[in-house]
Amino acid sequence: KDPNTSPEVFHIARRLTDGAFTYCKPTPRKEYHFITASPAALDTLGLDQSEASSKEFQQIVSGEKVITDPFPYAQAYAGYQFGQFAGQLGDGRVVNLFEVQSAKDGERYELQLKGAGTTPFSRFADGKALFSSSLREFVISESLNAIGIPSTRALAISVLPRTYAMRARHEKCAVVCRMAPSWVRIGTFDLYKWRGDRKGLIELSDYVIDEVFKNKLLTDQQVWKEVEKQVTSKNIVLTRYDKMYLEIVARNAKTTALWHVYGFLNGVLNTDNTSVLGLSLDFGPFAFMEYFSPDYTSNHEDSSKRYSFANTPSAIWYNLVKLGEDVAELIGADQELLDAPDFNAGIKEEWMEQMMKRANVIIDIGASVYEKLFMDDYLNIMCKRIGISPRSSDHSEVLAPMFEMLQATKIDYNGFFKTLQSVPLTGEVDYDSVAELFVPDDFQEDLVNDYTKENILKELKSFLAVFKNRVDQEGLSDGERLARASSVNPLFVPKNWMLNEVIEYTVENDLHPDYIDKMIKMATNPYDSTKWGDELPEVQKRWCSDVRF
Ligand code: AMP
Ligand code: MG
Ligand code: MG
Repeated sequence: KDPNTSPEVFHIARRLTDGAFTYCKPTPRKEYHFITASPAALDTLGLDQSEASSKEFQQIVSGEKVITDPFPYAQAYAGYQFGQFAGQLGDGRVVNLFEVQSAKDGERYELQLKGAGTTPFSRFADGKALFSSSLREFVISESLNAIGIPSTRALAISVLPRTYAMRARHEKCAVVCRMAPSWVRIGTFDLYKWRGDRKGLIELSDYVIDEVFKNKLLTDQQVWKEVEKQVTSKNIVLTRYDKMYLEIVARNAKTTALWHVYGFLNGVLNTDNTSVLGLSLDFGPFAFMEYFSPDYTSNHEDSSKRYSFANTPSAIWYNLVKLGEDVAELIGADQELLDAPDFNAGIKEEWMEQMMKRANVIIDIGASVYEKLFMDDYLNIMCKRIGISPRSSDHSEVLAPMFEMLQATKIDYNGFFKTLQSVPLTGEVDYDSVAELFVPDDFQEDLVNDYTKENILKELKSFLAVFKNRVDQEGLSDGERLARASSVNPLFVPKNWMLNEVIEYTVENDLHPDYIDKMIKMATNPYDSTKWGDELPEVQKRWCSDVRF
């Protein structure tokens, strides 16, 4: 239907029988209050910083002014949630606005408003987003991106001063303007597969290849090397659909490795939250781990620990297997079959066995590529974080003892790397005083669990001796280690207790943005504290103490 003449279609909950979007406007609210924009996101779009002060900008990013050419829309998808197929999902509280081409690098971004009201995909929910979760998403999107972890972005955050949602109690609602080159998820493929829409799956795949990846598939040297090895050994000639599948596998392997390197958990790793671009997406109960703990899950409702830290790589691989199943009829076909005049009409019985065999081979290739890229990136970046150049023996000889020590001592995870990169290890080392540098001033002993300063220092010293030995083997000076490590060790990561501080302060101070702006400055310049400004020095100090037990 023409959205301009059929406004009644906007918000009626319904099952979409074709395609993956429906026209839908943001719900009008009584009042809008723009809070702040991300300077980094403005820069990404090639917009001048002053743009954020314009009334029109503030009205568009809050949903107050709705442009209807092009008409806004909500995307439909489906998904496997905690391993169960959940049927039709979709943008239940997100409305997509339009695309913007960055004046900086030509990249195209789809802008959308999260918390913009109900859509046909809201099911029983209210289409609202709380200020607290919106603020969390706003900060984490920009933080991850600045650290170097692929993520969707956040352009601006606004409050809806007279719109409340009932959760545990009544809470103020907000809108985040998010942006990404594409919001297609594995769940988008799940939707077409569920419908049995073969033509739609081909259309979606062609769209993803041509528009999302712009036909650049497996062009990364490292990725191609791994794929080529597998393909040669299995005697396969890749089609464009195989390449699309493996590109999505590779991107998610690399992002998952980064989550692990930085101790980041996204909490709900369902297929509908897994981006085809490998972007960290749809932030709910996320967290940067306080201290290394493989069992840790940031999601309180995840009682089976499906999405715990240790399970994250297999959870994402599970999603990629689902994607392989979704497109099995495409990756099951070799080029000859794809070119056959009757291929688009449907699968013939006699093709079946051969196709399922081939699809399994492609998924197997995906598994090898996923594991190899994850392990390689994990080793490379983790070694960089501790200032050494990677050797495969470092997995067992350096990283394994390091993680045992980190788990036993509960030293702040990201803070550890910051401290390690600048401790003196050249020549004779006074291990007692070096180990002391890792123990916070306000350290609390727990005698019942043998968690004493003495024990912690012992663990630290034995790791430092192993590490010093490894550093000497490579002949590294303190300066060389620092130069390498500081380029990948963020000086600031937003932990949940800090985000809570910002939320509380902002609500209690008439939505004054000074805490938010401070945190965004720190989060978007994680490797350069000279850009943090001199506002709120005591807050900055607290957020950088990196000491939480
Ligand atoms: P999530 O687990 O947050 O990724 O959400 C799963 C599905 O529920 C998605 O389709 C969301 O759009 C939808 N959803 C979550 N919260 C709300 C809400 N408050 N109103 C409408 N839909 C929602
Ligand atoms: Mg989601
Ligand atoms: Mg969500």
